[in-house]
Amino acid sequence: MFENKDNKPPAKTSQLTALSELGEFGLIDRLTSPVKLYHPETLKGIGDDAAVIDAGDHVLLLSTDLLVEGIHFDLTYVPFRHLGYKAAVVNISDIAAMNGIPKQMTVSIAASSRFSVEALDELYSGILIACEKYKVDLVGGDTSASTKGLVISVTITGTALREEVVYRSGARPGDLLCVTGDLGSAYMGLLVLEREKKVFQVNPGMQPELTGYDYQIGRQLKPEARTDIRNLFLGLGIKPTSMIDISDGLASEILHLCKHSDTGCKLFEEKIPIDAGTREMALEYKIIPSLTALSGGEDYELLFTVQQADYEKIKEVNGITVIGHMTDRSHGKFMITPDGKQVALTAQGWDGLK
Ligand code: ADP
Ligand code: MG
Repeated sequence: MFENKDNKPPAKTSQLTALSELGEFGLIDRLTSPVKLYHPETLKGIGDDAAVIDAGDHVLLLSTDLLVEGIHFDLTYVPFRHLGYKAAVVNISDIAAMNGIPKQMTVSIAASSRFSVEALDELYSGILIACEKYKVDLVGGDTSASTKGLVISVTITGTALREEVVYRSGARPGDLLCVTGDLGSAYMGLLVLEREKKVFQVNPGMQPELTGYDYQIGRQLKPEARTDIRNLFLGLGIKPTSMIDISDGLASEILHLCKHSDTGCKLFEEKIPIDAGTREMALEYKIIPSLTALSGGEDYELLFTVQQADYEKIKEVNGITVIGHMTDRSHGKFMITPDGKQVALTAQGWDGLK
C-alpha cells in the first residue's frame, strides 16, 4: 500500500519544507487536518488538553505528552526523581485542565547505554511519588533502547461527568478571564539553573549559588497539577466556560482560548499575579516582570473563564485572580498596560512595547 510503485526518485531536498517553517502548532494543524473520526463515542478529538470519549454514564479523558532530553529537560541540573515527578504531573495537569479526575497512566521510556539502572530507578521513584500524591494508577508502558539520550512518554486517562467537562472553546464575550496561583516563577527558576550551569561549565569546582531562589527552583523542578481546583469549583457552584493549563506562556494560552472560543480578549497587565520575589528577581535580570508570566510557561496553573454573573462567587477566593475578560472577536486580543496603553497580545508576550 505504501510502496513507491512509479519508482519515482524522492523529491529533491530543495522542494521539501523545513519543520521550522511551520512551527509546532502549524505542523500539528497540517498533520491532523485530514483526520476523520469513525466513532460516535469520540466526543472531542484533537484540539483540547485531552480527548473526550463517551463511556456511558461518564466520559473518559485521554492525553499524552512527550519529554525529550535536551529539548524539555537538561540532566545537568534536573535530578532524575524530579524529572519523573514532573513527567507525571504535566500529564495530570492536562486532565485538571478538562475539569476531570486523573485515573490511570502509562509510561514509556527510551534510554541510551549512558544511563544506569539506578538512574532509571530514581526516575520511577519520582513517577510513583506523583502517582501516590494524585492517586493515579500506573498501568503499563513500553521500554526501549535509544541511540542517544532519554525520552519519556506518558499517557494519562481521567474521568468526569459529561456535563462537567470544560473545553477550550466555551468562552463568550464578557466572560471573566481568571488564573489560579501565581505565574512566572518557574521561568525564573529555569534562568537561575541555567546561570549556575554556565558558571559550573566554566569552573567545575564552583558550588552552585541557589540559596534565596527556593520558590522559583521548586516551581521549575517540582511543579504541581491543580487537581484541587475541580473541588473548589464544585464547592463554589461554578462551572468555568473554558479552561486550559499554563504549560507555555500565559499569552499563548490566552490566545488558544480566544482561538477555540472565537473571541477577543482584554488582559490587564497589572492584574497578572506574580510572586514578589520573582518580580524582584526579574528586575535584577533586567526582564519586565510580566514577561516572565506572559512568555515563561511551565507554571502548570489553570487559566479559565467564568460568566460575569459568577464574579461575586470568585472575587474573594484566595489563589484565584481575575486578570481580564473576553471580548467580541472583532475587538482583537489586547493587553492593557498600567499606563493605559493597549498592546496586541502575541504568543511571545506582546507587540508594540519594544
Ligand atoms: P498540550 O500543550 O495541552 O499538551 P498540545 O499543544 O501539545 O497540547 O496539542 C494540541 C492538540 O493537538 C492536542 O489535542 C493534542 O492531542 C494534539 N496533537 C499534538 N501533536 C499531535 C500529533 N502528532 N498527532 C495528533 N495530534 C496531536
Ligand atoms: Mg495542556
